[in-house]
Amino acid sequence: GRCVVAVDGPSGSGKSTVSRRLAVDLGARYLDTGAMYRAITWAVLRSGVDLTDAAAVGKVAGEVELRIGTDPQGYGVTVDGTGVDQEIRGPEVTGAVSAVAAVPAVRALLVARQRELIAQAGRIVVEGRDIGAVVAPDADLKVYLTASEAARARRRSAEDAADVAATAADLARRDRLDSTRTVNPLRQTDDAVELDTTELGIDEVVAQLRELLTE
Ligand code: C5P
Repeated sequence: GRCVVAVDGPSGSGKSTVSRRLAVDLGARYLDTGAMYRAITWAVLRSGVDLTDAAAVGKVAGEVELRIGTDPQGYGVTVDGTGVDQEIRGPEVTGAVSAVAAVPAVRALLVARQRELIAQAGRIVVEGRDIGAVVAPDADLKVYLTASEAARARRRSAEDAADVAATAADLARRDRLDSTRTVNPLRQTDDAVELDTTELGIDEVVAQLRELLTE
């Protein structure tokens, strides 16, 4: 039957790895909502509009054709037919995404798309910042992953081969922007299960989540 798992938390808390693994184990789909904000950001940067011009950013977001797969073992993101999987992980997009994600029109558009994708999938693990609070408040399980700042910076710099100190600074900057924006900030809901992954391996986290689902 239907099963929606919402996984929220700050950058580097282990959301992507854990969510993908859980989706594979459950035979469910997987939605990376951060990739959607990143793809819109890529389109905005390509368009050359001023990032601080909310109306212009919202217009670009409304005009592009964004597609995202939901296969946990290999999902692709395209913008107007161009594959952008590599580009959306680059420093330009990472540096601009929090500003673009703070634009109300961008959020309204993507939240609506995310709800459609969730409805189509039926069984799905969805990761982001506002999934339990806004996108899927009726999720069967809400998880809020955390980890120490040091662990988060270490994981992220291992992923993209960047310097740990630079990564730590970038994470702190994005977390501040993501949790202080006025529309749908990063937020833990009262009904979310909080898991600190600092000392836990992926297998342990996934096993704990599967246990919570069978309860
Ligand atoms: O998860 P990821 O690091 O790829 O997300 C990139 C950015 O997208 C976040 O820093 C945040 O600004 C934005 N985002 C968001 N809401 C979500 C998912 C991501 O605002 N549900």
